[in-house]
Amino acid sequence: MEHRLSIPSEPEPQLEVQPERVKSESPPQRNCTQPDGVCHRIDGALRPWRPSSLIRSSYIVHLGAVVASVASPGVWPWAVAAVAVNHLLLTIGGLFPKGSWLGPNLSRLPSAAREEGVVAITLDDGPDPEVTPRVLDLLDRYRVAASFFCVGTRAARYPDIGREIVLRGHAVENHTYHHHRRFALLGPAAIRRELAETQAVLTGLTGCRPRFFRAVAGLRNPFLEPALCRSGLRLVSWTRRGFDTLDPNPRRVAARLTKGLRAGDILVAHDGNSVRTPSGVPVVLEALPRILDSVAEVGLRTARLDALIRDP
Ligand SMILES: [Zn+2]
Repeated sequence: MEHRLSIPSEPEPQLEVQPERVKSESPPQRNCTQPDGVCHRIDGALRPWRPSSLIRSSYIVHLGAVVASVASPGVWPWAVAAVAVNHLLLTIGGLFPKGSWLGPNLSRLPSAAREEGVVAITLDDGPDPEVTPRVLDLLDRYRVAASFFCVGTRAARYPDIGREIVLRGHAVENHTYHHHRRFALLGPAAIRRELAETQAVLTGLTGCRPRFFRAVAGLRNPFLEPALCRSGLRLVSWTRRGFDTLDPNPRRVAARLTKGLRAGDILVAHDGNSVRTPSGVPVVLEALPRILDSVAEVGLRTARLDALIRDP
């Protein structure tokens, strides 16, 4: 199997990199595109949309409000209030990144991964021309495979980096096309476009079709889950996040991701939009070695999401 090694960049002087301490469960397969040019990674299964309990109750509330208002016009204020409360609950459901009121949401790995002592490292918002190659070098030194939730426009702008992610043995996943701050306010057609355009650009670049989706900041609305079902994608949030787009202190970022770390945790950091330390280094580059050292110290291993989560 071809293993394309990169030339490691000069490490930052303040980084205490201790190579190969973390064993990755990912196979030595460093490229999901085989010599025959075909990606052998299993595509996400298209699945029927099964509305959550809250969505089903929303149908009943709306229908009941209409029927009651027609049958007895005097109750319309109560009907409007019931619909308003329902919409409030739907909104709240989308504001909790780890919540599952609006549909399935993986915030931890399945029990099999937990029993095997595995955690998943995920990186959002790339590819970034400066940070992503250095993150890839770090992961190489630790022999760790990760899942990169890429933004479609950035992957299209930096296609070589997108391909390099897969060539180094990592997975690319879907993190919307435009990374709209107001993604959670989009309608069903716009959400479908965001998913489809990202699937197209990542599949075209890497030969591998993403299986997982992460919403911008984890915020979403009831239109997302039906669109994910149609695209063969599954929503993944996280167990822990480091807030490395906001906090320039690598020690604090790493502590948020590793304090009380348990098997089955999904960790999220950012190779795109990483805030810089006071000395000007993207904080993820100083936090990541601390994180990977901590993973090893508690006897855990890492693996890509697609190696740990099977489609039903
Ligand atoms: Zn993001």
